[in-house]
Amino acid sequence: MSNEDHRTIPCVRPGPTAGPPVRDVLTASQGHRVLVVDDDPACRKLTARFLATAGYEVLTAENGTEGLRVLRDESVHIVVSDWMMPEMNGLELCKTIRSNEPIGFVYFVMVTAQQERARVLEAFEAGADDFLTKPFDRGELLVRMHAGSRIVELEASLMRRSREIHKANAEMAILNEKLKRLATTDELTGLFNRRQTMTKLKDAWELANRYDQPLSCVSLDIDRFKSVNDTFGHAAGDVALKSTAQALSTATRTTDIVGRIGGEEFVVVAPNTDLDNASILAERIRKHIEETVVRHDAIELAITVSLGVAGKQAVMENPEVLLNKADEALYKAKRTGRNRYCVAQPGAVKV
Ligand code: GH3
Ligand code: MG
Ligand code: MG
Repeated sequence: MSNEDHRTIPCVRPGPTAGPPVRDVLTASQGHRVLVVDDDPACRKLTARFLATAGYEVLTAENGTEGLRVLRDESVHIVVSDWMMPEMNGLELCKTIRSNEPIGFVYFVMVTAQQERARVLEAFEAGADDFLTKPFDRGELLVRMHAGSRIVELEASLMRRSREIHKANAEMAILNEKLKRLATTDELTGLFNRRQTMTKLKDAWELANRYDQPLSCVSLDIDRFKSVNDTFGHAAGDVALKSTAQALSTATRTTDIVGRIGGEEFVVVAPNTDLDNASILAERIRKHIEETVVRHDAIELAITVSLGVAGKQAVMENPEVLLNKADEALYKAKRTGRNRYCVAQPGAVKV
């Protein structure tokens, strides 16, 4: 058998055999799967055998319908499809592949007979990547396959890169969320930190102004907390702080703003709440904390708090003034015996 005969198959034209040496294609085709779709058994079999020799893993189908079934079940990188076939022709197969997301990217080589050559634009419009006119020689086929393999590789590396970028973006979003949480919350209690409490208070102040609604502020401080630390240790003190924070969350509404603004100092901002209702809130908090037994190891701690309540007044220039008024009332509660709340009387405000 001459070299020429060896490189020729019935559906292909004998003749000059340009194209890369088979060993190059072997490297390019590594791991690539080709689906040969042709209704002519001899042509299908020989093309498949030749591509297998060139290093491709080859699957075959008799027409577009069967080809589609294979594509849905198997992973395929390149399709070499005849145009004219019964049931579903190559053009329909190509269109279906391109409109069917789950199949993903495949490189599509359309094989046309001479009479379809003029319609080759149609094949490209349907989504074909390349075409071959029958009869073709094996060298030509190898060149096409070589190009297809390179495109498949490029596409795969693009997909990998895009996945990496997606992953990096997702990680960045999680990190940003963590940073935001760190910047706005108090690590020990999970409540808003001082800065975030002030930001939220300003927002509530603006809303109260816009909708002409009442706004109140409750300032509170754990009684004789230094002695808790001194007697039972810092760890016990931390447990008492967490328990107080928990009690505050339980005793307040979800619309209230609860923050830890200092060591053992907390603030509750109560939107749309007047002084009377804020006083009821302060007493509820006081009672709840008084009744909560704080346990640490074998120790049981009785924690109490003093509170100061103030309501927003028209004469107040900014939210800091409201907070200062609540603090003044808190100091009064400390002076007059602790474990109680005092109310800042509406009236003249020091600015
Ligand atoms: P008063 O009833 O007048 O408020 O007395 P007090 O002892 O609570 O007040 P003081 O301001 O003298 O003491 C506050 C103490 O809070 C001092 C410090 O030991 C403690 N403290 C501040 N931050 C923390 C913390 O994060 N953890 C613990 N365990 N203790 C803290
Ligand atoms: Mg204290
Ligand atoms: Mg204090």
